[in-house]
Amino acid sequence: MKKSLLIKPFMDEIYPKAVKGSGIYLYDEDGNKYIDGSSGAVTASIGHGNKEIIHAMLEQAKKVSFVYRSQFTTEPAEELACKLNNLVDADEPYWSFLVNSGSEATETAMKMAIQHWQEQGFDKKNKILSRWISYHGITIGALSMSGHVYRRARFAPLLDECPAVSAPYCFRCPFNLNYPTCGLFCASELETAINRVGSERIAAFIAEPIVGAAGGVIVPPEGYYQKIKEICEKNNILFIADEVMTGMGRTGKMFAMEHWNVKPDLIVLGKGISSGYSPLAATLASKKVMDPILSGSKSVMSGHTFSANPQSAATALAVIHYIERMKLIDHSCKNGSYLIEKLKNMAKNNPIIGDVRGKGLMIGVEFVDPLTKEPFPTVEQMTTRVIKKAREKGLILYPANAGKDGLVGDAVIIAPPLIIKKKEMKQLLSIFEETLREIQLK
Ligand code: PMP
Repeated sequence: MKKSLLIKPFMDEIYPKAVKGSGIYLYDEDGNKYIDGSSGAVTASIGHGNKEIIHAMLEQAKKVSFVYRSQFTTEPAEELACKLNNLVDADEPYWSFLVNSGSEATETAMKMAIQHWQEQGFDKKNKILSRWISYHGITIGALSMSGHVYRRARFAPLLDECPAVSAPYCFRCPFNLNYPTCGLFCASELETAINRVGSERIAAFIAEPIVGAAGGVIVPPEGYYQKIKEICEKNNILFIADEVMTGMGRTGKMFAMEHWNVKPDLIVLGKGISSGYSPLAATLASKKVMDPILSGSKSVMSGHTFSANPQSAATALAVIHYIERMKLIDHSCKNGSYLIEKLKNMAKNNPIIGDVRGKGLMIGVEFVDPLTKEPFPTVEQMTTRVIKKAREKGLILYPANAGKDGLVGDAVIIAPPLIIKKKEMKQLLSIFEETLREIQLK
């Protein structure tokens, strides 16, 4: 075979070559079968090889695959925007800006928030606040908002200092407090940060409803987002919910913010919106955000060649219809409860599992040193070892960080396709348990 010139995540690693996907399974060229225990990067929500989606993609390809957004609109793009608006449980309409990746969508949200204030004459309101232990994407604007020490390090001079407050990480509370006696100190910290910077300089605050890869699934305590939203409103700051990982049914609700009944001003979607069948992401902006833009310059200053791509829009529509028709949000809820309970039981007899947490089928398992209960030393490469061993045994997991104060820490995300069946979950659990047993024997 010719030498590969494809740049891969780790150049000295040999990756299996995937040749087929079906339901929750992936197959490589040597005939090995894997459970996609993380839907790739928490993306393939409806599973692989779905004939209904492939049919919809083909039908759209026969009509038109590409038009440029300043020259034409298309039926699927228009319909998708309507559909997304209908999915948001709010009185006011939400507009959609369609892009190709989560990073583009969070960066679009950042720009739309700034533009919203500029259109009203508040030119100085151009800073975005975010949290440490967060990930909003890899492009420079999105990375600026990401509270991810390792991913920022190399590009630090180019990045704006957006992370200003801590994540609501109760397992290792950054303030060494306990819920509920803490009085949600981590949420109050936002007000302190706003006072330091000056609300006249801040356009928006962005947060992942449940922190994904940067923190190994950090679920906030009750009342946290209500308090965050109150602080944002009081200080005239927009609230952006980055639902790239949590949205589209992943956590047992269409959007994770519904768990706390909080309405964001901007909602960012990606990953599960097209279940990975075609690249698509979206920035949803409420009427409140859009009105000054519509009565001002009438054009959102952003966009890409592939924005509102009809092929991707038709794919996403088919995926959303499938999620609704097959009641996959209920599945996510029930299957998630089952898996979390089983994993918590597993943790009782497994000293390296420090914490199991999640909502729906977005589940984090944090590993700890059995003696200290602290994260393993980085040199142990615990997450990498677990991921590799699990893959050898036919289970794909998603690596995550866990640990406060910039410590890397170890966690994996278990987030199989929402269509997973009981017997498949049992299989997943048994491979996971065996993996951890063998890792400990080392
Ligand atoms: N936001 C969140 C919450 C994410 O999890 C991710 C991807 N892991 C992104 C943004 C960036 O999305 P993408 O990789 O599609 O650019």
